[in-house]
Amino acid sequence: MTANLLDFDLEGLAAFCERLGEKRFRATQLFRWIHQKGASNFDDMSDLAKSLRQKLKATAVVIALPVVSQHISSDGTIKWLFDVGGGNAIESVFIPEDDRGTLCISSQAGCAVACRFCSTGHQGFSRNLTVGEIISQLWFAEHFLRKEASQSERVISNVVMMGMGEPLQNYSALLPALRVMLDDHAYGLSRRRVTVSTSGVVPMMDRLGKDCPVALAVSLHAGNNELRNELVPLNQKYPLAEVLGACKRYLDVAPRDFVTFEYCMLNGVNDSVEQAKEVVKLVYSYGGTGSWCKFNLIPFNPFPASGLTRSSPSAIEAFSRVLSDSGIVTTIRKTRGDDIDAACGQLAGDVLDRTNVRRRLSQRGSITIVPQFSSIDVGKESLFNDC
Ligand code: SF4
Repeated sequence: MTANLLDFDLEGLAAFCERLGEKRFRATQLFRWIHQKGASNFDDMSDLAKSLRQKLKATAVVIALPVVSQHISSDGTIKWLFDVGGGNAIESVFIPEDDRGTLCISSQAGCAVACRFCSTGHQGFSRNLTVGEIISQLWFAEHFLRKEASQSERVISNVVMMGMGEPLQNYSALLPALRVMLDDHAYGLSRRRVTVSTSGVVPMMDRLGKDCPVALAVSLHAGNNELRNELVPLNQKYPLAEVLGACKRYLDVAPRDFVTFEYCMLNGVNDSVEQAKEVVKLVYSYGGTGSWCKFNLIPFNPFPASGLTRSSPSAIEAFSRVLSDSGIVTTIRKTRGDDIDAACGQLAGDVLDRTNVRRRLSQRGSITIVPQFSSIDVGKESLFNDC
């Protein structure tokens, strides 16, 4: 069977090389060609012996997910829709800022957690992504952006696992994918700049802390179990006390000295001053001044099926003030990519109707295609081959 080399971390690639009868160190060379240089054609890998290149051509490929569409926001945010087969699609979003470039990556097609305020959650769960499908998003985005900027240095400095899916419910693919992101022979990202965001899968938070501690974000959204049960159904299995206990344990090994709490601001649901005080009390009960966590307040991005609306700017301000005045570092997240539905909780809005994806895949003429993509091999089925 042909192997897609995007599916391997360095250890996996070394084992693959051994199966070909090659020395393990060849894997490092190969890894660099694929991830640092964006090569997908084995003939381009000039410092590999010709005999190895022949073996690779017979047994392996480097193929990223086909791109269905690309949308660029007026603020520079870019959203890609990737085809993962079976009528499913996933999304990735690049957010450029002055001092960093952040890529938001998906870990599953759909999501089983079904948070009430989340467009992906309303779509239902289709399947876990493979390691290669997770890494494919980074590989494609990094090398596309470098080409666009005509530069050889790294463009993506931060990765957040905050796209579609609950990453800790796809742990067996997440872990090797994180190792590829962190590997100095691949993307060399700092642990502090790779963030896994979870709705609170407590046992896997502990495992992540042991196996590969990167920055951690937790979707909180409520200061009591009754409300959180309603907003994040997983809370019925892992209630707040367990989630916050796991956060505190994680801090013993985390690369940062805080956990980030995400809090989606929902009008009349979780945004009152009293509820802000309840959140402060909750956080304080797990450690003195609350300096062990930071809060991101996210203005909700409405979608019709949710029946929810965004909190007013004054309510968000008042909520933020209660937290800040209590010594908790609090940021009101700027909405980015509003005009292309790339903001938090909006991912996969386009794929709610899967027949819509099929239609878009079959009507390629209507898809946004960027000519520069044509020189990047994004796989046999690449829509860009139509350019
Ligand atoms: S917020 Fe995250 S965990 Fe909740 S449904 Fe959406 S993708 Fe899943």
